[in-house]
Amino acid sequence: MSACPTCRGKGAPTLFGLPMEAARAAGEAGDLALMGCLLPESAPHYRCGRGHLWRIEDEALWLADVTSVLRAHGYDESIDDEELEPR
Ligand SMILES: [Zn+2]
Repeated sequence: MSACPTCRGKGAPTLFGLPMEAARAAGEAGDLALMGCLLPESAPHYRCGRGHLWRIEDEALWLADVTSVLRAHGYDESIDDEELEPR
């Protein structure tokens, strides 16, 4: 997981778009930052517990974090990238 560049807090990966069931559960547990359906032009990749938002250079790391969080919350199919794209 990425650490907050401002407060060094633990970052939860952000997810835009309509959350699937596993994403809702992860959001409620604080493991995923559900950001709603509107994707800003430079969307943040992580949010810490204090609400700081930041981006990372390697989007593959963010995708790996989202994938592992979703799997930890019961999403056991292989992740289709399409489902992580904003709708
Ligand atoms: Zn922070």
